[in-house]
Amino acid sequence: MNLHELSIVELSNLIKNCEIKPSEVVESFVSRAKTHDKHIKAYVTDLSESAIEEAKKLDERISDLDTVPDLFGIPLAIKDNISTKGIKTTCSSKILENYVPPFDATVIEKLKQEGYIITGKTNLDEFAMGSSTENSAFFTTKNPWDLERVPGGSSGGSAAAVAAGFVPAALGSDTGGSIRQPAAFCGIVGLKPTYGRVSRYGLVAFASSLDQIGPMTRYVEDAALLMNVISGYDRRDSTSVPEDVPDFLSEIKKDVKGLKVGLPKEFFIEGLDSKVKEIVIDAIKLLKKEGIIVEEISLPHTKYAIEAYYIIAPSEASSNLARYDGVRYGYRAAEYTDLEDMYSKTRDEGFGAEVKRRIMLGTYSLSSGYYDAYYLKAQKVRTLIYKDYMEAFKNVDVILTPTTPDVSFKIGEKTQDPIQMYLSDIFTVSVNLATVPAISIPCGFKDGLPVGLQIVGKPFDESTILRLAYRYQQITDYHKKFPSLP
Ligand code: GLN
Repeated sequence: MNLHELSIVELSNLIKNCEIKPSEVVESFVSRAKTHDKHIKAYVTDLSESAIEEAKKLDERISDLDTVPDLFGIPLAIKDNISTKGIKTTCSSKILENYVPPFDATVIEKLKQEGYIITGKTNLDEFAMGSSTENSAFFTTKNPWDLERVPGGSSGGSAAAVAAGFVPAALGSDTGGSIRQPAAFCGIVGLKPTYGRVSRYGLVAFASSLDQIGPMTRYVEDAALLMNVISGYDRRDSTSVPEDVPDFLSEIKKDVKGLKVGLPKEFFIEGLDSKVKEIVIDAIKLLKKEGIIVEEISLPHTKYAIEAYYIIAPSEASSNLARYDGVRYGYRAAEYTDLEDMYSKTRDEGFGAEVKRRIMLGTYSLSSGYYDAYYLKAQKVRTLIYKDYMEAFKNVDVILTPTTPDVSFKIGEKTQDPIQMYLSDIFTVSVNLATVPAISIPCGFKDGLPVGLQIVGKPFDESTILRLAYRYQQITDYHKKFPSLP
């Protein structure tokens, strides 16, 4: 039995029935990472040794439990911008290189209550700003399907770890596509929940009005299971919403027949690779046979989404990143003349080029005289984009699009041209601006590289997108394919 091919649901059943011990599960996954991560470089901090130790403790504890939680003994990797008590949380930035949080993010507390095992912290673009992990201050993660290509970003380490079978699932964060785009590039499932569904407490802030934590898995049912665990109101996050959390695992089993699906014409345009388009259309045809009803819709303000996003996200980032001043925590420049000099040298030495670019863009858009022309205007566009989605959802239950305009690109291909890099988010950013949930699932391959199908849902209706995604995985096996690792 190849444990890395199983879903969390299957692994969990084996553990619950005492057919396998937590330590056997964990050892089997971490030994894959031990062999292959030197080529993939998914982990910034490898915790395989403590993972095995922790799992052995669970081996002892299991017999004392009346009910064994679903994640008991399940190994998971965590993006390195999610705070883990006593474990370095670097955001792949020099400025936080040695930062060890004194507290756990709410999502980590919840996973711990279930008895999960952390296998490591995964690489990302510095402070989650990027689409390829090339902005990591440490190294670039490789796409397991082709080591010369990017895994996507910013949650590229998490996506690569799942795709390579180092873990059955990981957590990522998504501000403009950072869960879904790497999921698409690596051939796995990635869900961005509705804004407010999952607590952001302990997620290092990038753009607070857009950031959400979400699951990255191989199987849709595992995304549902993880959503059951991490969702819910948290008084420590003032933007979390006291909305009921359904049992996503039972919701996904419901029928999809009669679901009304919109295809936004603005997403099937020039610039979308023709082979990717064909694969996505084929996926839609397959779902039609399952009884979904498809109609063309319009999200007319889509063309302004990238511009609005790249004003709003940097504006919020420039404010959020003001806290890295060399005083309270993190890196401090070794030599300086006075306080002002200390701030500026610390930030100059501690931040990478993309983070500096965003801070400058954001500071500019927020400065008096430019605020109305840029920030306020972008906020108005955001409202229009939100209204587009709400209008569309009066007639359809979900919206289907490609996740990305093309498959993964070569390492180095877009680093000299930030605009090209920003455009790789063209199909994901409007979803964050509209606050709605969306999932990317593998739907085929172009020249051996995975293609993602994006399913967007109504606010707080993760159930329906998971349900359609689950149905798709029942009738396809793209998600079961593994890259051949060196
Ligand atoms: N790629 C986008 C950016 O660079 C989105 C990043 C994200 O979702 N964290 O901002």
